[in-house]
Amino acid sequence: MEISLRRSGLNRQSVFGYSCGRCLVCCRFKTIHLNPYEIARLSKNQGVSTTGFIDRFTTNGGTVLRSKEDGACVFLGAEGCGVHADRPLVCRLYPLGRHVDFLGVENFSLMECEEGCRGTFHERGTVEGYLEEQGAADFLRAADLYLNLLWSLLEVIKEQELEPSRYETVLDTVRAVAERPEGGHDLSWIDMDRALADYSTRSGATIPESLEERMRMHIKAVQTWAE
Ligand code: SF4
Ligand code: SF4
Repeated sequence: MEISLRRSGLNRQSVFGYSCGRCLVCCRFKTIHLNPYEIARLSKNQGVSTTGFIDRFTTNGGTVLRSKEDGACVFLGAEGCGVHADRPLVCRLYPLGRHVDFLGVENFSLMECEEGCRGTFHERGTVEGYLEEQGAADFLRAADLYLNLLWSLLEVIKEQELEPSRYETVLDTVRAVAERPEGGHDLSWIDMDRALADYSTRSGATIPESLEERMRMHIKAVQTWAE
C-alpha cells in the first residue's frame, strides 16, 4: 500500500505513524542541540553535574552534543543509544521536526529520512500518539518554557535597545543580557547547576531536588539576570 503522509503543516491530530528499524544511521553526522533541561537529564543519566557534563560531552558552549571522530553521536554504542531514557527531544521526534512560532503555535514537519533508514511509515496513528510513544511530554514542556524565557529576554534587549547584530544565537542573547555591566554575572545559561548555585548564594533560596522544580528555579534565576 502506498503511504501518502503529509510532509508539513502537521498538527497533533494529523495522521502519522512510524516504526524505527533500529539501524542507527540517524545517530551520525547530526547536530543535536540541547537546552538546559536536556543537559540536566543527560548529566543525571551520566552521574555528573551539568558543569561536568558540558565539559565532557558537548561543544559550542554546551549547546550541542559532541560527536566522535567517525561522526557518531558520543552516546551511540553497538547496541544503540546509550542514554535512551534521557535522550534529547530531537532524537524522540525524529523523523518529525517541531516548530513553534512567536505566538506559541506549534506545527510539525516530516524530515527527509536518512539514506538506508530501515524505518517504516504507517497511517494507524496520530502525531499526538507518536509523541506519547516517544515519552516526549516533559521535554516538550521544557522546550516551551525555555523558549518563553528566550522571548522575554529578547524583549529586554529590545527595550534596552541593545545592538541586535551581536545576538545571533540563543546563547549569545542570554549572555548579552547576563553580562551587561549592571548584570554582574559571568555564567553560561546552559549550565543549570552553576546557575542555581549562583542564584542560591545571592538569594538564599534552597536548591530543590526534583528536576522539574530545579528547572523552574533555573528559569527564574536567568530571568533575574535581566533585571
Ligand atoms: S542521544 Fe542517543 S538517540 Fe540521540 S543522537 Fe545520540 S545516540 Fe542517537
Ligand atoms: S535511520 Fe530510521 S530506522 Fe534507522 S535508527 Fe534512525 S529512525 Fe530508526
